Amino acid sequence: MDVAETGCHWFVCVLGMMCAMESAVGIDLGTTYSAVAILDQNNDPRTLLNSAGEPLTPSMMCFEGPRVVVGRGAAKAISTQYENVADCPKRDLGERVFRKVINGRQYPPEVLQAWILRKLWRDAQRQIGPLTKAVITVPAYFDEVRRKATMDAGWMAGIDVLDIINEPTAAALAFGIQQGRLFEIGQTNVPRRILVYDLGGGTFDVTVMEIDGGQYRTLATDGDMRLGGWDWDQRIVALVADELVRRIGFDPFEDQQFSGNLWLKCEQAKRELSIKARTAISFDLKGKSFHIELSREEFETRTRDLLDRTMFTVEQTLQEAGLEMDQLDVVLMVGGSTRMPSVVRRLRSISGKEPTRSLSPDEAVAHGAAIRAGMILSSHVPGQGSLNVKNVNSHSLGVVGMDPDNKQHRNGIVIPRNTSLPVVAKRTFFTSKPNQRSIKVSIVEGESANPADCSLLGKCSIESIPRDLPVRTPIEVSFRYEENGRLKVSVQVKGVDSRLTHQLHRENTLTQEQMEGWRDFIDQSCE
Ligand code: AMP
Repeated sequence: MDVAETGCHWFVCVLGMMCAMESAVGIDLGTTYSAVAILDQNNDPRTLLNSAGEPLTPSMMCFEGPRVVVGRGAAKAISTQYENVADCPKRDLGERVFRKVINGRQYPPEVLQAWILRKLWRDAQRQIGPLTKAVITVPAYFDEVRRKATMDAGWMAGIDVLDIINEPTAAALAFGIQQGRLFEIGQTNVPRRILVYDLGGGTFDVTVMEIDGGQYRTLATDGDMRLGGWDWDQRIVALVADELVRRIGFDPFEDQQFSGNLWLKCEQAKRELSIKARTAISFDLKGKSFHIELSREEFETRTRDLLDRTMFTVEQTLQEAGLEMDQLDVVLMVGGSTRMPSVVRRLRSISGKEPTRSLSPDEAVAHGAAIRAGMILSSHVPGQGSLNVKNVNSHSLGVVGMDPDNKQHRNGIVIPRNTSLPVVAKRTFFTSKPNQRSIKVSIVEGESANPADCSLLGKCSIESIPRDLPVRTPIEVSFRYEENGRLKVSVQVKGVDSRLTHQLHRENTLTQEQMEGWRDFIDQSCE
């Protein structure tokens, strides 16, 4: 084998034979846009076009009579029937219901996500035939509740979810594979430390990874589940609103329809400011024409604090990873919002290197998910699987206990954040009275000692503890974070053979029965 072949050998070996097997897609279920990718005959990731012939589908849905419309049609409906459009339901995952009443009802956000997935799925099937499996991406900073909600959405959409994968990890996979193919002298065997700065439409993630040949190891991750391009849009919306109040005493926020429409215009203006120094937002209102000018300079001034927040997180994540800026080999930009020149400038200035965007920022994540799907399918083939991904947990896992000194509830951290996954941690609880038959443990995610500042994952109840055990019998609870950040709990009483039954009663989550009902409904109503 000559040197040129060596550079991409591991790639071919890992993914070889996959085409002969069943196909699975990678789905980037983004806050504002979604994309689907598959590996082609040469094992190159390729974005599938939706039924309108576009690579990106707006992550929005609305009702048109009994039918559900997803994507561009729903985005268009924002300007005529805003109250009927579910825009960016991903932002509300983890809540019991979506923030708006749609079609006379407040739907669980994962059901709205399922409709979007169903449409992406159907469009993919139209092109490549029957499909059953997919890998879906999630922000690295998503907590367990949101991860489960994403998997549930996949299930309700009729998809066999092979795995969920963190968006920055997916981008790093796509990048690594691309580099493996580009570097024809085998440099992929040299460890590369890469910082993935992922600023999408609704979420922000920073992940520091080490790529060593086929090994992808996450060193640290951090982010903000509610910071993305949408917040930049809202600054322009606010500027126009101030102007309208000043000029004609009209507050657009009092008119949902108008403000929905205004948002679309402002988002477009933001995009234009990525390539031009000035733009204008034009519209008609109350019989008058308005034309509000905005310069890139002013836009950047009005959004500087948002950018500062992302850079602060970058520095914190590097610290967590135990690295200095100059130890990074690559700063990789992912997510549509990294097209803003201010992001590029600032990353260049704090890292001292030219940020990389060798991948399409909108498609890299879907491509990485397709590669991950390929890895999972090919791992069933003996001798395959030299591509390995190691992840960390993005939030600490704790159980709520009582502080004996002040009798206040306290979060006792069991698995600190940024621990390499999978990980198992055990905690021993004691029965508080003789013949106690059950115990309840509250499980939270978050860094604060105060459980009220953390997100409640649920309550684990341990039932049918054997009869007649004395007071203070130890009960051992094992918490296992899987590689994809999902939690499994198991329980044991020392000296008692059988595993006890236990159940995780989750907050804001649908029951299996409810999900089955939604699954049928979604199937019938999707366009
Ligand atoms: P993503 O979730 O990665 O598809 O990113 C979507 C976000 O990227 C949205 O907030 C878009 O407004 C934003 N975006 C896309 N293109 C541009 C651009 N040229 N300039 C600024 N923001 C953009």
